[in-house]
Amino acid sequence: MALSPRRICWLWCIGLLALCICSGPELAAQPPPQAQAIVLKAGKLFDPVSGRMIERPVIVIRGNKIETVSYGTTVPSGAKLIDLGQATLLPGFIDAHTHLTMNAGGGGYESLGISTPRAALIGAKNARLTLLAGFTTVRNVGAEGYADVALRDAINDGDVIGPRMQVSGPPLGITGGHCDNNLLPFEFHYSAEGVADGPEAIMHRVREVIKYGADVVKFCASGGVFSKGDNPLLEQYSPEEMRVLIAEAHRLGRKVATHAHSTIAIKDAVRAGVDSIEHGIFLDQEGIELMKEHHTFLVPTSYPLFWFEQHESEMDLAPWVVEKAAIIIPAAKKNVANAFRNGVRVALGTDAGVYPHGLNGGEFWAMVTLGLTPVQALQAGTSNAAELMGWSDRIGAIRPGLFADIVAVQGDPLADIRLLQHVQFVMKDGMVYKNEISAESSAANVQVRH
Ligand SMILES: [Zn+2]
Repeated sequence: MALSPRRICWLWCIGLLALCICSGPELAAQPPPQAQAIVLKAGKLFDPVSGRMIERPVIVIRGNKIETVSYGTTVPSGAKLIDLGQATLLPGFIDAHTHLTMNAGGGGYESLGISTPRAALIGAKNARLTLLAGFTTVRNVGAEGYADVALRDAINDGDVIGPRMQVSGPPLGITGGHCDNNLLPFEFHYSAEGVADGPEAIMHRVREVIKYGADVVKFCASGGVFSKGDNPLLEQYSPEEMRVLIAEAHRLGRKVATHAHSTIAIKDAVRAGVDSIEHGIFLDQEGIELMKEHHTFLVPTSYPLFWFEQHESEMDLAPWVVEKAAIIIPAAKKNVANAFRNGVRVALGTDAGVYPHGLNGGEFWAMVTLGLTPVQALQAGTSNAAELMGWSDRIGAIRPGLFADIVAVQGDPLADIRLLQHVQFVMKDGMVYKNEISAESSAANVQVRH
């Protein structure tokens, strides 16, 4: 990109450490414009930190941050008012396990026809659906060609609408494993981009995904359901390989999420210091104790277990997926419920992308069905997920200084968790993206984007 004369002038100023005046009225010293405040009123507010509902909240938002949270009716003069009546406000939901750049599919050969640019555009569509479902932040765990990096950057630049994102780029895994692509025969010599075998190759791959934009590192510790030719009951990376991978990611300031179904893979990953176990299908009692000891989060991805049971016949699944799902689903329900009973720390993750995007709110219902209380499920999808992502100072609660990511539903979600599948108001970064509750005030005062 060519530098404008004005920019060259500024570069000279900086380089010479000299005081100098560049032409152009916008560069004259001016105080930053004070953003007009938005005041949000509602019947209740869920605070995940205390686990309590608070009556009659009044929230003042300035720019993209929450300025104050109070209780009463005081409204700063000149502010735009959004009165959501008796609705319940909640922190914008956080999904710690999505695949925005994938559409729901059967795991078969049709996936080979999706290019990286096409995947990024699929991501733009799914990012919008996810945001409008109330999920203002996601962690995207696994995308070929760094389509997720492109999507994250496009959202941050305001080119497309979607949740704020942490992304992993290509997930790391062994040759022939769940994070490889095993559909093509030998003569194509094809491996997925994240494949790395042995400590040296793994160290290089961790550095590479970070170089190209990964905020978090994802790897496959065990086999999975949608991959051809591997076994979810078996470990894939060795304990030594996991230790190298996780240590290198941590050294470079990235957290690590691992796809782990098999009992031994879960335990080895936890001992190696992984930050979250994704799925945890065959988690046993010893694994639960290890996770508690190491403060490891479980991201249980429960809703697809129920969704598959109801929709399997419509999905045109590859035969190996059908075979493996029959083993996985009953075990997952039993073992995840046991983990919940035993107090493992839980962060919400939906695995959306193996079923249609925008249904993410079903995960709250699924976790409650498997034994979490509604308060615990909401904490999993707000403050806990924020902690897992290292973003507790930005998101996960409605508190002064955090980003103004706020959603609302009609009624009390602690009494009926299914209400969270029908979010009617979505604000991200202080901008309203959906408002089906208060039509007049939004029309009169506040920009509403759909
Ligand atoms: Zn997944």
